[in-house]
Amino acid sequence: MKRALQKKIKHATRPSSHTIFPNRRRSGAHKYIFVIGGVMSGVGKGIATSSIGTILESRGFHLNLVKVDPYLNVDAGTMNPTEHGEVFVLRSGLETDQDMGNYERFLGRDLTNADYMTSGMVYRTVIERERALEYGGRCVEAVPHVRDEIVERIKAAAHHNGSDISVIEIGGTVGDFQNALYIDAARVLKMQHPDDVLFVMVSYLPVPGTIGEMKTKPTQTAVRDLNSYGVQPDFLIARAFSSLDEKRKEKLSISCNVRKDHIISAPDVSNIYEVPLNFEKDGLGDLLLKEMKLKPRKKSNLSEWRAFVNKIHSAQKEVNIAIVGKYFDTGDFMLSDAYLSVIEAIKYSSYTQGVKPKITWLNSKDFQNGKASLPTLAKYDGIIVPGGFGETGIEGKIKVIQYARENKIPYFGLCYGMQLMLVEYARNVLGLFGAHTTEIDPHTKHPVVLVMPEQKKILKEDRYGGTMRLGAYPAKISKGTIARDAYKADTVEERHRHRYEVNPEYIKAFEDAGVVFSGQSPSGVLMEIAELPKSAHPFMLGTQFHPELQAKPLSPHPLFSAFIKAASQK
Ligand code: GLN
Repeated sequence: MKRALQKKIKHATRPSSHTIFPNRRRSGAHKYIFVIGGVMSGVGKGIATSSIGTILESRGFHLNLVKVDPYLNVDAGTMNPTEHGEVFVLRSGLETDQDMGNYERFLGRDLTNADYMTSGMVYRTVIERERALEYGGRCVEAVPHVRDEIVERIKAAAHHNGSDISVIEIGGTVGDFQNALYIDAARVLKMQHPDDVLFVMVSYLPVPGTIGEMKTKPTQTAVRDLNSYGVQPDFLIARAFSSLDEKRKEKLSISCNVRKDHIISAPDVSNIYEVPLNFEKDGLGDLLLKEMKLKPRKKSNLSEWRAFVNKIHSAQKEVNIAIVGKYFDTGDFMLSDAYLSVIEAIKYSSYTQGVKPKITWLNSKDFQNGKASLPTLAKYDGIIVPGGFGETGIEGKIKVIQYARENKIPYFGLCYGMQLMLVEYARNVLGLFGAHTTEIDPHTKHPVVLVMPEQKKILKEDRYGGTMRLGAYPAKISKGTIARDAYKADTVEERHRHRYEVNPEYIKAFEDAGVVFSGQSPSGVLMEIAELPKSAHPFMLGTQFHPELQAKPLSPHPLFSAFIKAASQK
């Protein structure tokens, strides 16, 4: 690998011992597919990108999927989930946009730091280079310097992954001020490699209620906008309420200068896992390969994928899961985003067991201020308290956990959900009045959860970005526990995102009172899983890590599966 490229990637990411770059060898010219949004955001560019990944890999190609986020945050870690949705954590520890989670789930494997970029990262590299006099006294500007840095990063990502094809999703919508440099970078790449770059626009065709007819005009305008950057889409993915009729395809084809068979219908679907199958119906996989002058390396086989989708449709018996969280402030439509990986993890484990998950959102604040009554929890088969930060609604969560414990409702605590499970246990079983996490009460008499030693200094210096305990770490799993039964392995690797941990001074007291720390860091210092034995409770288990980040449709997470199994037996 060229030194310059190596340096670039180092700039791109925080140094991490976990960064993996498979560096496969490949033959032939590398191909790039840019996915650009038209008309409006939120119509499924990420799922389109992921699905293109699924269908092309099924033909024997190795892909890397890149997400470009045009914001100035260096990573997604400092953003509130109600602002931007869930923060996804890569194996390396990089905090990214939730689309990276979709990519990993659709490809069924881990992605690398090279596959994610924000404007913050890009500008930071350019500015640091300028400070180091690396531009040789020239005036440093957005064009060409920042734009060319983007081009280099896209190439570097392909190189690091040793992939055959990169699919690059440009965040935002065409016409945005923020993503213009990225579109220009794509144009430059196309100019450098005219035969190896494709553009796919994911657009939206509204059916206004008063007109009752599908309108193509916004898409025509979006394509014209894209043209003004010097970019012509090769494919249009037409997101709409229903499939496009021939008339609409013809109209779009003529006015947007896109071949009619390159206009792909993407009707609303009841679940996102149908999208790759729908794309195949319109022949997208073969058409993309043909346009890139590539021959399929094997016959596409999505039978496992199809079997999973069939399970979604055939699941009958419901399992009622309540998620007790706090990121509810921007209205219901945001919820699924703030806890996206948790929801998907529940789905995978449920569908593979033939049950249909019914997820209910409960606001922890309501249990705190008495708006919601605890006995209403009895109707749920399982309760999850997911990850979180800060004080809002925390006493409500603790009350819910106590109710789940005392009434033997299967409980699964994720990160904060494990810490609070132990706070509850300390207060109500160990009798440690006022026990707390020092995140909320730094002066508590019983700090059963406390800040990790290395985090103390970081917090004092207000260095919040990218400084938590992040990414994959190994854990040893003890024999004869629920965790071991689920994992069927004595060592696992899970992804983390936290600053606080179980206070080692209280471990013995917890163990004496019946808590089993079934997962521990190899040194035995950090408690990674806490559970109650089956004799005490059907399923009361918390993890210091985020198992949801590694759940995949075709390989559900073992702990989620154990939880769903216990819940459906309730
Ligand atoms: N706030 C807790 C911590 O920092 C839990 C974090 C989380 O749930 N991801 O340790």
